[in-house]
Amino acid sequence: MINKALNGFTTAWKGLSLTLSHLFASNRKREVMHVSDNNYFKRMEGTNTIQYPKQALPSPEVGRYQLDVEIDDCIVCDLCAKICPVDCITIEQVKATELIGYTSDGSPKRIYPAQFDIDMAKCMYCGLCTIVCPTECIVMTDKYDRSVFELTDLTYEFSNMTPEEVEEKKALLENQLAQKQAAKLAAMNKKEGGA
Ligand code: SF4
Ligand code: SF4
Repeated sequence: MINKALNGFTTAWKGLSLTLSHLFASNRKREVMHVSDNNYFKRMEGTNTIQYPKQALPSPEVGRYQLDVEIDDCIVCDLCAKICPVDCITIEQVKATELIGYTSDGSPKRIYPAQFDIDMAKCMYCGLCTIVCPTECIVMTDKYDRSVFELTDLTYEFSNMTPEEVEEKKALLENQLAQKQAAKLAAMNKKEGGA
């Protein structure tokens, strides 16, 4: 009889202490730590939510979030746009009439990015564009909280050219092509005249 009473008391105390520990733990704020931290699961106590946006859980290093383009390192090869399964990258190339310069990895730049837009509303974050890029200038960042009111605001423009500059470069290219064509015709006429 006494044993049964003691057993009941012990069991009740265990249950009560567990309840009390959770009760006090729930008042503690959850500590923000990386998922790779050894204590990540041990420290999963306290409130289950964090105080976003004052607090934010760190993004995993391999996470795929907002795309970014270092346009000065882009050689405008169009590979990223071609491989994109949902066609959310729009690039307009304008060939330069001479070497423009070099990227930070030493690749020669011969094409201007008249337009380089990424529609993140369509992007499915597959990461293929970042894999094919020869200069590694298109990358996934750890930004994930870019809420907007208008869907069109999710189209990001990376070209650093003004419309005037684009027109100027196009005119230069057309002029060069016309000169080449004229020289070619002149050479043909000369050849025919000499024959
Ligand atoms: S991550 Fe995938 S879907 Fe998004 S732009 Fe790159 S290739 Fe396209
Ligand atoms: S693959 Fe890279 S270098 Fe080529 S156009 Fe895209 S971002 Fe630019």
